[in-house]
Amino acid sequence: MENATHDAIRYAEGALATLKRAGCSNLRVFCLGCGHWHWLRIDDAIARLGASAGLVMVARRVRCHCCGTKGAHVEPEEPPGIGTPHYLAWALARRTWLRAELERFQDLDEWLPPGQAQG
Ligand SMILES: [Zn+2]
Repeated sequence: MENATHDAIRYAEGALATLKRAGCSNLRVFCLGCGHWHWLRIDDAIARLGASAGLVMVARRVRCHCCGTKGAHVEPEEPPGIGTPHYLAWALARRTWLRAELERFQDLDEWLPPGQAQG
């Protein structure tokens, strides 16, 4: 039972909404049948499967445009390189996410015994 709970937590961390908050806007989908790949906008995947869906759910649901095989390998896109067209938007989204994460853990010291604050 403890393992099932742990798996559920790990699965939730791969959710599409989490990837989007971290600055990912596209998924790369590789056909397992013919090797063809294409980009899938993360917003489109969220619209169809929900924000809490994980990459595994996307992988099970997609069908290849070329050969019709159902099921794929799905990866989040690589961050864009500095100077490329989407870099600024990616970097701003990433910064927003990092600030939110920092805020989320700001009060951790309050949980520690007196004298053990790390911050
Ligand atoms: Zn295919």
